[in-house]
Parts: sequence; C-alpha cells; structure tokens
Amino acid sequence: MLKKGKTAIVTGAGRGIGFEIIKKLSMEGYSCIGLDIHVDEDSYQSLKDQEGIDYEIVDVTEPVQVKEAFKKIHSTYGGIDILVNNAAITNNISQIMKMDIEKWNKEIDVNLNGAFHCIKYALPHMIPNKWGRIVNISSMAATGGIDRQSSYAASKAGLLGLTKNVTLEYAEHGITCNAILPGLIQTEAVGKMPDIIKNEALRVIPSNRLGNMDEVAELVSFLVSEHASYINGVEIPIDGGGHCNPISLARTKI
Ligand code: NAP
Repeated sequence: MLKKGKTAIVTGAGRGIGFEIIKKLSMEGYSCIGLDIHVDEDSYQSLKDQEGIDYEIVDVTEPVQVKEAFKKIHSTYGGIDILVNNAAITNNISQIMKMDIEKWNKEIDVNLNGAFHCIKYALPHMIPNKWGRIVNISSMAATGGIDRQSSYAASKAGLLGLTKNVTLEYAEHGITCNAILPGLIQTEAVGKMPDIIKNEALRVIPSNRLGNMDEVAELVSFLVSEHASYINGVEIPIDGGGHCNPISLARTKI
C-alpha cells in the first residue's frame, strides 16, 4: 500500500473497535501506531509483518509515558497528524451511593484524563504543520447516561466538553476535533452478553440491530480525511437511530 505520508495514532488499538480502526486507517495508507497498555507480542509481530502497523506499550493515564512515546513516534515517522482517542475501561457497575471511589477515579483517569494527555502531547506536533485530526470515541452514555455506570457516563460526557474546547482553541491551526458516540457495537464482549439483555437493548434501537465495528472505523476514516476539514467540534451518534427513541438505553440493565 502506498502510504499517504500522514501518521495516525490510535489508543487502545490492541483489540475491539480500536483494532478495527487502526486496520482501516492502515488500509487507507496512513502510517499507523497503536498505543496500548498490553500487547500480545505474537499478534503484534504479525500485525507489523502483514499490515505494517507499529505498536507502543503506553498507559495513557501516565503523562510522561504518553509524552515520550509521542516524541519517539514524531522522530521515527516525521510527524503526528491523526490521533484517535479510543482507549477506555468500564470496570465500575454500581449505583452512585455504593460506588467505589477508587474505581470511579480509575475510570475517569483512563477514559478522560488519558485522552487529555494524548491531546496535550499531540497538539505541539500538529500545530507546525497547520494540520491535525483528533477523534474522540465517546459513547451514547455521554448524553443519556447508562444504568449503574455513572463513572463511565461522566467520563464520556467529559470527552464531549474536551472535544469542543480543542476546536475552540486550535481550529485556527488547521486542527479538527470531533467526537463519535457509538451505541451498542458488536464487539467480543458485547457478543458474550446474554440474549435477554441484547434483546432489551434492541427494543430501543430503530435499526433493530447492533452496530458493527467496521461501521465505526468507516466514520473515523471519514473524519480524519481531507473531506472532513470543515467538520469541527461535533458529536456524531452511531447507534442505529437509538438517540431518537424516547425510551433511552439508560434504563436498560447491561
Ligand atoms: P475494549 O475491547 O475494552 O478495548 C479497549 C482497549 O483499550 C483495550 O485494548 C485495552 O487494553 C486498552 N486500554 C485500557 N486501558 C488502557 C490504558 N490505561 N492505556 C492504554 N490502553 C488502555 O473496548 P471496545 O469495546 O472496543 O471500545 C472501544 C471504545 O469505544 C471505547 O472508548 C468504548 O468506551 C467505546 N464504546 C464502545 C461501545 C461498545 O458497544 N463496545 C459502545 C460505546 C462506546 P487491554 O486489552 O489491555 O485491556
């Protein structure tokens, strides 16, 4: 594949939606680097051999690790043009009164602070080129909440505020920052959910199906392209129309 001369970083690219996004961007001709907290060395090597995708082991909650990794990527690839903040955890299922404070902080740390660290250290590499694309993977939970997952919902809502501020502060440098809000997407973890729960969720999705990971990757691929240069600071649901339904997913027990 002829490379486009642009470099893309995708966080949490080791599996799930992030893996699909990095594969898509690599197929589109971007030089791609995945940042992940763990990497399976064998699959990493085969990705490198087959797709030319590079990986760095980075915990996005550690600003020094992020800063150093970005410096290294910049000096190896000659630039950082695209950042997709996808890494996230959902480790905290509890009502607010019973919520474990450590788990609350951890979820905010990975899902929101992690994205902030990556944006903070990507921007200085984008500004000199007067070009940059940042996509934050939020969630429909950001706008509607999600039962017993307030730390997840709050972290994803925080990402929307951050998205808008990046636009306000850096659009004049040719940088766009947009948020994608997936509904329920058919990942391995979602695939393992009991049917009764999935069927309950399907009741409020007008398309009457779950989303596919490649549909999210397609949207990312458009938002980072030249064609999307006047789309900035937006929140795009990708949820089969679920956001139109008055019975929100928030009450669905998942
Ligand atoms: P996933 O399968 O859980 O993958 C998340 C990735 O992030 C994993 O590779 C994980 O590494 C990595 N990660 C976790 N903590 C990290 C850290 N501190 N530093 C660096 N990497 C870290 O997630 P997914 O289901 O594909 O979801 C991807 C994104 O879409 C997330 O932002 C999620 O909130 C959002 N989303 C998903 C859905 C859905 O239905 N699946 C719906 C709405 C929004 P390990 O493998 O080592 O844990």
